[in-house]
Amino acid sequence: MGTDFDGTDFDLVVVGGGSGGLAGAFRAARHGARVALLEPGDLGGTCVNVGCVPKKAMWLAADLAHRLAIAKQLGFDLPDGPPALDWPAFIAFRQRYIGNIHQSYLRRLDEAGIALMPVRGRLAGPGTVACDNGVSLRAGQVLLATGGHAWRPDIPGAGLGIDSNGFFGLTAAPARVAVVGGGYIAVELGAVLQALGSRVELFVRGERLLNGFDGEIAAQLGEDLRQQGLRLNFGHAVLGLGGSPGAVTVRGGDGRESDAFDCVVFATGRRPNTAGIGLEEAGVALDARGHVVVDAFQRTSVDGIHAVGDVTGRIELTPVAIAAARRLMDRLFGGQAEARLDYDDVPTVVFSHPPVGVVGLTEEQARERHGDTVTVHRSGFRPMLNALADVPQRSLFKLVCVGEEQRVVGIHLLGDAADEMLQGFAVALKRGITLADLHATVAIHPTSAEEVVLM
Ligand code: FAD
Ligand code: NDP
Repeated sequence: MGTDFDGTDFDLVVVGGGSGGLAGAFRAARHGARVALLEPGDLGGTCVNVGCVPKKAMWLAADLAHRLAIAKQLGFDLPDGPPALDWPAFIAFRQRYIGNIHQSYLRRLDEAGIALMPVRGRLAGPGTVACDNGVSLRAGQVLLATGGHAWRPDIPGAGLGIDSNGFFGLTAAPARVAVVGGGYIAVELGAVLQALGSRVELFVRGERLLNGFDGEIAAQLGEDLRQQGLRLNFGHAVLGLGGSPGAVTVRGGDGRESDAFDCVVFATGRRPNTAGIGLEEAGVALDARGHVVVDAFQRTSVDGIHAVGDVTGRIELTPVAIAAARRLMDRLFGGQAEARLDYDDVPTVVFSHPPVGVVGLTEEQARERHGDTVTVHRSGFRPMLNALADVPQRSLFKLVCVGEEQRVVGIHLLGDAADEMLQGFAVALKRGITLADLHATVAIHPTSAEEVVLM
């Protein structure tokens, strides 16, 4: 509990203690604001508890499985067959790590003097937030950071499947898994499960993976996943699930029923948490998809009420929620009248195997905006470790440039270490570098990263 709690009046009440809410609360408190933070669940929200953090832990385990297989191929004396993971033991490590994050947040909230209340909040009149324990809080400013939740289509038998939350509850790799969807979560969880011993089939309603990402990169990722044994079904709308728990069938658009899967995972998108928090009564405008509408300064349609993160639907990534919240608090309490997040050129990584790292425009987007001035540079290659072990998986890097000066407007990296490679190049792109700037940089050899400055 915070130390400076004085009655029910605050400068700021934050509704939601996930990535955006915590970042906002800490930054406001640092500027001297009296802050209350409402969070009925585990601190850290989606990212820490059922998102980025446990997902990355599972990805790291899957990465080790890949490397062990390669190590065996290259002569290390390891047992035959795929390396078996003791899931319960690994999950204990994963959850201990998450537990430490909770402890760290509690300590920091206490040090910052933020009043943490383990309750749900609801807007209840101007500058008032009603808590579900009956307490009403008054504040000059309110920040909505209630995030979102997994969504699955309303089809017969949908309850026989699980979603990403259910994935984090698994204690063993199910033998046969169907994943519905072809976006971030489908690709990430599908690849992890395949690496950890499941046989995975993706059911994608469209004709490609990762809509919105570069088409060639998505196609090469599909090839790489196939090489690992995943089956990819494109143009396959799922109309229903049948069978029973543990033996679930998938009914496709053609009416045909699949063989039974031990587990079906829905990765069909997320929806904002906007129900039951008094938005309508307060007059907070929502868009057609149900997200809270905010302007460039994170202001909602109601004075004194702001929103950040997934509930606004503006690039649903943790660092975006955090950065938006910090800028907002710098503006509200830090005297920086113009502070706001620039939502352009946000880098992102899909933690598939291999990972995809992207910043800026796709080739398709660049051609729409810049027409014939677009030039594209590619490098397709097998990373050294894969070549040594004769693993067919290939990397594909692309640079998208515009204008005579070949300003780099898009960097697309598919391949081992793309996740760690991207951040520095994202700085460079944001600073407006040209192809000549990359060429003027001496390569680091032998690495995959050198391909970026040699294209
Ligand atoms: P959340 O983190 O969802 O926090 C919202 C909080 O509000 C929750 O704790 C909730 O309990 C609370 N809340 C809701 N209603 C109320 C109420 N009425 N009163 C009080 N509290 C309330 N992003 C990345 O950048 N990298 C990744 O690798 C990544 N991996 C992901 C993997 C998965 C499986 C998923 C699902 C998401 C992933 N994301 C990733 C996205 C990332 O988790 C979200 O963008 C981020 O958590 C959004 O933060 P937020 O603060 O908006 O919401
Ligand atoms: P996405 O929007 O990325 O993907 C949803 C997928 O479900 C798409 O393939 C979509 O198809 C498909 N789909 C939607 N509705 C249906 C339906 N009715 N039937 C069949 N398929 C359907 O959402 P995710 O849930 O994967 O992830 C949500 C967000 O969380 C991401 O956008 C990202 O912002 C964040 N995230 C970030 C991660 C990271 O940073 N590494 C990891 C995981 C999540 P279509 O393309 O045709 O619409």
